[in-house]
Amino acid sequence: MIKVQNLVKRYGSNYALNDVSFEIGEGEIVGLLGPNGAGKSTAMNILTGYLSSTSGEVYINGVNILDGPIEAKKNIGFLPEQPPLYPEMTVTEYLNFVYELKSCELEREPHIAEIISVTKLGEVKDRLIRNLSKGNKQRVGIAQALIGDPKVVIFDEPTIGLDPKQIIAVRNLLRTLARRHTVVLSTHILAEVQAVCERVIIINKGKIIADERTEDIVKTIEDGYRYKVKVCGPAREVELALRKINGVKTVESTGERDLDSFSYIIESEKSIDVRKSVFNLCVSNNWPIIGMEPHGTDLETVFIRLVDRSDGVSETKKRRK
Ligand code: ADP
Repeated sequence: MIKVQNLVKRYGSNYALNDVSFEIGEGEIVGLLGPNGAGKSTAMNILTGYLSSTSGEVYINGVNILDGPIEAKKNIGFLPEQPPLYPEMTVTEYLNFVYELKSCELEREPHIAEIISVTKLGEVKDRLIRNLSKGNKQRVGIAQALIGDPKVVIFDEPTIGLDPKQIIAVRNLLRTLARRHTVVLSTHILAEVQAVCERVIIINKGKIIADERTEDIVKTIEDGYRYKVKVCGPAREVELALRKINGVKTVESTGERDLDSFSYIIESEKSIDVRKSVFNLCVSNNWPIIGMEPHGTDLETVFIRLVDRSDGVSETKKRRK
């Protein structure tokens, strides 16, 4: 659905994007994550046709954005960080205005009614945008991006400035949209990516430093797997027995006690799945397991380590020159 090949954007001698390539398939929901100045806005502005690249290609639904800008743009809905709302219009007036602006050819009334329904704006559709809450204004911003039923919708920091309840509502809305659209979400908020995106592309200093499924990203910086296991049994004995399992590198008691169970963090070799052995050990000793879950490094730590690692690499390269 989106194909970006060797994209470069240079400002003078500075590279805002330096040889960036990725593909995003139909119906994917992908987070574009990076610290300030990483190149996220530049990438989004090129994807949406607002900015030209120094070199490289962008295809939206098979159409090169330079060869067929109008057709490519028809396939994209964009919510910029500051949505271009007109405070003196009602929600319905504004959506009709955007409908005209985009020269939308879908049947007007049912199309706008559907968008109002999806974005849950029904109750406020006749109110002036000026008088809406920040959360509803953001929904209107999302609604305008959906006019024309674009295949791809791109959101720049969609939950910034919202309260926690509004944030949850907007994130739920984004997840709903992914059923019908390819969604790209640019954010510096790690929790947002974890909550909403299946895949994360991390950029730093104009380069992609990771492109992984969100649930796998942690594994890229760890050299093993970690599980948190809750076992009913004598703490010391359980801990020692767990340590003896083939493939287990470390066992740490967390000190958490829940009735007669204790929790342990088990770290295993990357090549060995120790979960069955943990289960068999506990069964043979009559130590009921009442919980076992992956215990990952959180995304924030992963992000910082990846960014540091990529900065470290470029520093070393610089020193070599
Ligand atoms: P992000 O959105 O991740 O914060 P940007 O895409 O805005 O990052 O910026 C990437 C880099 O490009 C930054 O170093 C920024 O200073 C530079 N940059 C962005 N726009 C311009 C511009 N119009 N002129 C010169 N440099 C720019």
